[in-house]
Amino acid sequence: MSLPVGKIMGVEIRLHYTWFIIFVLITSILATLYMPDQYPGLTNDVYWITGFVSSIILFSSVLFHELFHTYFALRKGIPVPNITLFLFGGVTQITEEPQDPDFELKMAFAGPASSFLLSLIFGLIWLVAVQVNLPAIIVAPLNYGWLINALLGGFNLIPAFPMDGGRILRAGIWKAKKDMVVATRMASRAGEAISYLFIFFGLFLILFDGFISGLWFILIGWFIKSGAEASLKQTIISQALSGVNVGDIMTKEVHTIAQNMSISDVVENYFYKYKHGGFPVVEDGNLLGMLTTQDVRAVAKERWNELKAKDIMTSSEKLVKTQPEEPVVDAFLKLSKRDIGRLPVVKDRKLVGIISRSDVMHIIRVKTELVGKR
Ligand SMILES: [Zn+2]
Repeated sequence: MSLPVGKIMGVEIRLHYTWFIIFVLITSILATLYMPDQYPGLTNDVYWITGFVSSIILFSSVLFHELFHTYFALRKGIPVPNITLFLFGGVTQITEEPQDPDFELKMAFAGPASSFLLSLIFGLIWLVAVQVNLPAIIVAPLNYGWLINALLGGFNLIPAFPMDGGRILRAGIWKAKKDMVVATRMASRAGEAISYLFIFFGLFLILFDGFISGLWFILIGWFIKSGAEASLKQTIISQALSGVNVGDIMTKEVHTIAQNMSISDVVENYFYKYKHGGFPVVEDGNLLGMLTTQDVRAVAKERWNELKAKDIMTSSEKLVKTQPEEPVVDAFLKLSKRDIGRLPVVKDRKLVGIISRSDVMHIIRVKTELVGKR
């Protein structure tokens, strides 16, 4: 649910649909509340222009921050498919967990450091602008620029994983304990504790001060909490799957279909009999394609007798496939990204097995139960 708007350093920049709502919201808060409060006595037009420009500055600053993380990731050879700007700021999609704590430290620190640098630049220009008495329409966005970047840098340094500060904390524990999962667990716990502090403080504000300011703290607390939970889960999953290849857990005895089998035959003897949503079409051991319930549903029932598997299957070239040597983590990513149930496992064009989402879930469950909670 996001819109691509361009590419920087080869990385796609996207706007999440919530971004548009937040952009309008922030512009109007700035134009009707913040700017009139900071710079009284100006016209409505000036407030809306400064509000709009300041909104642009806010989101460019978030992008600037994310680009610094991206730069370090790319330099290390870690692929970054896209950066998405959304409700609370930006998310840089980094597909791999960093492999050593020193690098994680550097990459995490790059963001807040870039925000503080930008704050300094805005601050200096603002000081000059004030000195030479430039009009409020220029001074106000500059003032907002250094403030918001200082806030961005500071907010991201909150030691709550997966925020930058939490990543710095994790890298520190990781370095000391030499165990990434333990470090992630501790950094996530810290994040959770901080999220509760925010939520309680928000409730306190609602009771004794104001509803809106309290709501902000609760929202931020909730945001930190869900981030901590999600990334802890992700780390545990990738840890459970590390070192496991597709060949280790795939199903080797596969029910296959011959290409000349009629559709009614397939429905009768395969779809009704076995509880799978798709079967590989195989000839002399070679994978020709896959026939799924979707393929069958697309043709009228009257034609099931005359049509053959090869006529309506998804051909092998169009299929997402995997190999026995591929890490299960990568296969799992393919499954969840495309929302498919199973992948054919192919070696030298021969079908050697099938790996399904439930195969992967099973190994995650077994591994985490055996290793237990550390
Ligand atoms: Zn950051």
